[in-house]
Amino acid sequence: MFELIDSHSHFDVAEFDADRDAALARARAAGVKRQVVPAIARDGFEKLRDLCAANDGLHPAYGLHPLFLAQHTPEHLDELEQWIEREHPVAVGECGLDFYVEGLDVDEQRRYFERQLTMAREHDLPVILHARRAFDDVAAAIRRVGNLRGVVHSFSGSQEQANQFWKLGFHIGIGGPITYERAHRLREVVREMPLEFLLLETDSPDQPLCGHQGHRNEPAMLVEVCRTIAELRGADPAEIAGATTKNCERLFALS
Ligand SMILES: [Zn+2]
Repeated sequence: MFELIDSHSHFDVAEFDADRDAALARARAAGVKRQVVPAIARDGFEKLRDLCAANDGLHPAYGLHPLFLAQHTPEHLDELEQWIEREHPVAVGECGLDFYVEGLDVDEQRRYFERQLTMAREHDLPVILHARRAFDDVAAAIRRVGNLRGVVHSFSGSQEQANQFWKLGFHIGIGGPITYERAHRLREVVREMPLEFLLLETDSPDQPLCGHQGHRNEPAMLVEVCRTIAELRGADPAEIAGATTKNCERLFALS
């Protein structure tokens, strides 16, 4: 058996409240010994911190997610900065831009996003990015702020867009969507990509794998993501596991 790190899991959310210990035990039994758990909004920071403090292998990141724009206030940005200074998270995030979901003010999204990028740069932390229908805008913001590193989680863009992120030194996170045979473009990107930029993720409880539609996703499923990628690349799953674990440890400075 090989060891894996789930680089993006919302293991703190209410969907896991009823059976979190069991889900954690299943993940560990499957070899998924560590998870990076990014925040989505200010009111979840305490729960996230306490959960990660109480369980080995759970690493928090703090940030304000664009889909939860209605919950954020400018004061939350100041509080976020205090949390980063005090708690020393492994990253800033989840933050980014979402131009797919309607009704999210674009300018407001940009303000929250760019301030979080600046915080990441000033605190020398990686960023965990959410980008939907906004890859070019996200890349432009990374360039504008400069001196950043991180991951574009659940990447779903084109080959050219992937290239653009690698050139900026960014990783791409790949999860459940890769297990769908119809994901031709994504599969092509992952088949050919440099392994040094690949991270594995589940995005639990979202993005269930093929064959599990309609069910809650959980970190133990990361093994299937790894196997699918290994198959696509004609590689040994242990090789993919080893390389992506190293990438994740390096990016988030996990010991
Ligand atoms: Zn997420």
